[in-house]
Amino acid sequence: AQPAAGRRAARVFCVANQKGGVGKTTTAVNLAAGLAAQGQQVLLVDLDPQGNATMGSGIDKQNLANTLYQVLIGDVQIADAAVRSETGGYDVLPANRELSGAEIDLVQLEDRERQLRQAIAAVAPRYDFILIDCPPTLSLLTLNGLTAAHGVIIPMQCEYFALEGLSDLINTIKRVHANLNPDLRVIGLLRVMFDPRMTLQQQVSAQLESHFGDKVFAAIIPRNVRLAEAPSYGMPGVVFDPASKGAQAYVAFGAELIERVKKL
Ligand code: ADP
Ligand code: MG
Repeated sequence: AQPAAGRRAARVFCVANQKGGVGKTTTAVNLAAGLAAQGQQVLLVDLDPQGNATMGSGIDKQNLANTLYQVLIGDVQIADAAVRSETGGYDVLPANRELSGAEIDLVQLEDRERQLRQAIAAVAPRYDFILIDCPPTLSLLTLNGLTAAHGVIIPMQCEYFALEGLSDLINTIKRVHANLNPDLRVIGLLRVMFDPRMTLQQQVSAQLESHFGDKVFAAIIPRNVRLAEAPSYGMPGVVFDPASKGAQAYVAFGAELIERVKKL
């Protein structure tokens, strides 16, 4: 299938945060499924050698002819490496541990930060959204993601140290903006794993709103065990249990993003 005639090439967004375990992959997978459920053509790029987004989309990371690794080193095109997530309803550019070797291969290339951007250009007309699930490190892989993207979606937990990590990430985004990718901007901050019973979380959430204004998405993703269970069934939570609070929140987030993108 193709995006509707006249629509422009895909919006490319990184899901990034320099901390691990903050809900990046859960957000990338469920946003992909949530957008697909709303008729959008989506490609999910797994930029993390852990391959969690690949597995969470129901794709066996051990059994792949081609992965993002072969794309980054210039051996194949994205179209030859992408696989369909039958459970999620979107395409995946998969990854596994082999990707950690790309770091070394990339160093030798002249346009080492631009490999993903160049590869995406060839498939961008086919999609409405391309989402990139970033690893937690500021590596050459992450730089490839940030250089390929129009913007960054930052999932964060409303905890005391969350703000500290955020300034590191925003500095990184500024540097990439200045040196590699003038298109790059923060699309928004997404509150995830939210527990409204925790006073501290409410305080940090309010602080985020007063600090960052409408850069904070209205959708809030609650802490919800169904989202955590879904990957072991090889499904996005949005598909695994559509009635769950977590699934509904990610679908609402998808709708909000579709609206926000119209104003960019
Ligand atoms: P990251 O990609 O940033 O390392 P993950 O998305 O893998 O983070 O999430 C870390 C852990 O938290 C995983 O076990 C995941 O299932 C769980 N998790 C993420 N979001 C939620 C949520 N909203 N509610 C409950 N568990 C969640
Ligand atoms: Mg992850």
